[in-house]
Amino acid sequence: PVRVRFCPSPTGNPHVGLVRTALFNWAYARRHQGTLVFRIEDTDAARDSEESYQQLLDAMRWLGFDWDEGPEVGGPHAPYRQSQRMDIYRDVARKLLDGGYAYHCYCSAEELDERREAARAAGRPSGYDGHCRELTAEQVAAYEAEGREPIVRFRMPDTPITFDDLVRGELTFTPENVPDYGIVRANGAPLYTLVNPVDDALMEITHVLRGEDLLSSTPRQIALYGALIELGIAKAVPAFGHLPYVMGEGNKKLSKRDPQASLNLYREQGFLPEGLLNYLSLLGWSLSADRDVFSIEEMVAAFDLGDVNPNPARFDLKKCEAINGDHIRMLDPKEFAARCEPWLRAPYAPWAPEDFDEARWAAIAPHAQTRLRVLSEITANVDFLFLPEPVFDEASWNKAMKEGSDALLRTAREKLEAADWSSAESLKEAVLAAGEAHGLKLGKAQAPVRVAVTGRTVGLPLFESLEVLGKERTLARVDAALE
Ligand code: GLU
Repeated sequence: PVRVRFCPSPTGNPHVGLVRTALFNWAYARRHQGTLVFRIEDTDAARDSEESYQQLLDAMRWLGFDWDEGPEVGGPHAPYRQSQRMDIYRDVARKLLDGGYAYHCYCSAEELDERREAARAAGRPSGYDGHCRELTAEQVAAYEAEGREPIVRFRMPDTPITFDDLVRGELTFTPENVPDYGIVRANGAPLYTLVNPVDDALMEITHVLRGEDLLSSTPRQIALYGALIELGIAKAVPAFGHLPYVMGEGNKKLSKRDPQASLNLYREQGFLPEGLLNYLSLLGWSLSADRDVFSIEEMVAAFDLGDVNPNPARFDLKKCEAINGDHIRMLDPKEFAARCEPWLRAPYAPWAPEDFDEARWAAIAPHAQTRLRVLSEITANVDFLFLPEPVFDEASWNKAMKEGSDALLRTAREKLEAADWSSAESLKEAVLAAGEAHGLKLGKAQAPVRVAVTGRTVGLPLFESLEVLGKERTLARVDAALE
């Protein structure tokens, strides 16, 4: 049975790279009726925070992911927060030491630096040089007498490590490139290098799917697994698949500190979880050459690691917005209206709550649904319906209100006054006729009307907008613009 894991560290805000990793693991688990383990890697007290942990849970819920084992749901390998599993890691570190798979290393940071520099200068590999691998009892006693506190270092095998990456195919790492590495700090704190594979082993993870940035830790973990298997702690080495890098602006790796990477930003802008997930799935995967827009169910049904492309994927915000817009249009109209709610209230909405009008909102919503890329755009698109006066955008005003526009507005007002206000078509004919009277095509004639009524040169279809706003309000605004 497939057992995959999503194991973020609770530092900072959730970011899109993390979401992509969660998505691929979740989809793989669901596709294979497997188990998704959600584990919190909070062993770095200096960087981890409770707030970040809560944000992770909230993000997973918002995205619609469920997990079979982990925080809040429990499971046979609980607890799922590494900060609560320290005894387990201490015990494993002890066994690794006792079995000779790891050793105490007394080298100080300065000594390590010095020897690294010397190796570099001599053109030799600059990783750990095995200095403390075979210390005699006397050497150990001497270091102890100096008061040195050792770290625990894992002893790497002297032979190359080869594995079949599920995304990149066969990879080989030679010993010079993967030196012995620290697994427990001098103060006794276990490191990611230990706790991550130990938990993968104990939780019987079968497939490790994670970002390419972690590829260099894989040969170390495979070697550690070898020791864990000999010690009877692990059953088998999992398969590994490394998901491609995500590139941001300027073709640079998208970093978690990049504002463009923050999940909260996408939530605030009104991306739908389904739209965002659809787009993120395309960062390294595709459903088919001719279909970019699909549901999460379709993704799960088709998801295969063999289709993951190892090449870096570019995060294209425009495309992400376009796909989100398609998902907005796929919503049931009632659902669309409901999802817009947050952006029709404070702090987004500039109108007073009592000025909001349900009937006008219900009438305009269908026209907005066909046009939005992200839900937050709704506020500026409908504010003219609820504000006592439109917010005039100066550039729009100057662009639309030219010589002759007063004369046109006067004629338009007359024709609109006489029009049938139960039909947007009739309102259009009124403005069309006003334009004709002044030798203007519809596009030119409607611009001053739009700015007078909505404050802007662009927006939802004008005549439907006027109809929803109503005769009295519309004419009053034209009058005000003429003053
Ligand atoms: N806690 C690690 C991280 O946040 C997880 C790495 C892994 O998937 O092995 O990067």
